Amino acid sequence: MEGIALGSETKLLEIAALNVRYELMYSQFAKVGLKPLPVSDGCTAFGAMPEATVRRHVLLAQNWDWIPQVEGLFLKIRPQTGPQVLCFTEAGVVGGKIGLNSEGVGLAINGLVSNKDDWERLRKPFHVRCWEILNSRTLKEALGKITSGERSCSANFIVGQQKKLGSGRIVDMESAPQSTLALSPEQGVVAHTNHFSDPDKLGVKQVLDEERRSTLHRYRRINQLLTPIRGGKEKLNMTKAEALLKDHDGRPESVCRHPNSAFPEDERYQTVVSVVMDLYTGQLKATMGSPCENSYQILHL
Ligand SMILES: [Zn+2]
Repeated sequence: MEGIALGSETKLLEIAALNVRYELMYSQFAKVGLKPLPVSDGCTAFGAMPEATVRRHVLLAQNWDWIPQVEGLFLKIRPQTGPQVLCFTEAGVVGGKIGLNSEGVGLAINGLVSNKDDWERLRKPFHVRCWEILNSRTLKEALGKITSGERSCSANFIVGQQKKLGSGRIVDMESAPQSTLALSPEQGVVAHTNHFSDPDKLGVKQVLDEERRSTLHRYRRINQLLTPIRGGKEKLNMTKAEALLKDHDGRPESVCRHPNSAFPEDERYQTVVSVVMDLYTGQLKATMGSPCENSYQILHL
């Protein structure tokens, strides 16, 4: 953060604020309770284990839905020590939140809101944890970055790793301020949107408002689309993952999300970036903007 502040001639405090924007915004949403304020970072993410993919590679995929005016960027990070990283981030945020590294570790994320979220708790921020996950050499190390200590706010992390053919794992880690819940892929596939799978197990209450329909619908729909993969009738590859991310069932609150004119203009969200990652090859394909209107570009570590 000091480096970014120096390089951008910005105050460190302002850069720090950008790096805790997840906590600031989310806990405000939680505080206003069930008012029709949108949950931010609405996303649809999924992952497939080697047994569920054409080339037996671990694949992670995600649409990141956010305020259309906020543009992100992809970073290639080549540190002197530690893994090289290819990731998506927002200006001013250190490291990335969706991406992969040269150790075959990959990350996709979903925003979650619980009644226990409170930025004033001042624990290690969400975006710092994402940075740590993408700096990890092993899946175990990456998962430890999520579970260690308490969190100010809730979030979901889909973390995978594949270093060689014949291996590879994915764990979905739901996290609340004082608890975490690891979910394993079912029949090689895992999917997540913006609600807890079992809030009671985490000792929290789900905060869902106007977004309720969207996250529940997107969850049902992505799982429906993944059914042939789960059943072994089909295998997933990058192209098929891209097709799933372009799905418009239930539009505008679809997997490929478009602004909902029923909401006030500043509460409309859309898919801002769409990403498909192969953790074995280190290849990442992404669209800036909706995947239905932009073609996927190939990026390498
Ligand atoms: Zn679309």
